[in-house]
Amino acid sequence: MRVAVISDIHANYHALEAVLREVEREAPDEVWCLGDVVGYGPLPNDCVDRVRALADVCLVGNHDLAALGVLATTDFGLSAAVSARWTAAELGEEQRAWLLGLAPQARRPGAELFHGSPRDPVWEYVLSEEVALLGLTATTEPLVLVGHSHVALAIGWDGERVDGGLAAGGTELELRPGRRLLNPGSVGQPRDGDPRAAWLLLDLAAGRASFRRAPYEIERTQAEIRARRLPDELAARLAHGI
Ligand code: ZN
Repeated sequence: MRVAVISDIHANYHALEAVLREVEREAPDEVWCLGDVVGYGPLPNDCVDRVRALADVCLVGNHDLAALGVLATTDFGLSAAVSARWTAAELGEEQRAWLLGLAPQARRPGAELFHGSPRDPVWEYVLSEEVALLGLTATTEPLVLVGHSHVALAIGWDGERVDGGLAAGGTELELRPGRRLLNPGSVGQPRDGDPRAAWLLLDLAAGRASFRRAPYEIERTQAEIRARRLPDELAARLAHGI
């Protein structure tokens, strides 16, 4: 089975479209989304509609939950809190109802999916080998997929050694032997210094992973953020991938 994994779209519709054009060319069997479809960005309803129509599995993320009013925004930074309030008012009834039905974790054959981490699917960031190992020991499937940090990551564990780190665009790796924890990176707000939209292509039968980046028209999303008077910082950072 071939699977496209996307995460952290953050209502950036042009980044999502660019990724989905590449995904459609690859014609995978399934599309898995690891959450945070909305929050930060200017087009939450369009992104929900697109993901809802396409994804075989979609998780809910902390920003989705904040926009739904399920999570308080007290742990958010100022621009995240402002955009969560704006998104809450902007979300349509249908989009809201769909997001409310999602869970922050899921299981597919051979893989466990989490928005944050296996230990805390909503909030924990996996950004170190230590936290990755704690997640791998808390799970059993060969493959663990996480989002949330907006940093593409590939960490392997053979039962003794933990190994790996950042997975730049173009990284190709074998999934076997051992187990892997992978983060596809973020579609709509990458934070690893590469502003292109990130996604991950898995070939589970062949045991291969391919980290992809899709260029998109960043200025269009920036203009939409500014037109809605969302915090300017949310537009500026997109150009730098931070
Ligand atoms: Zn996110």
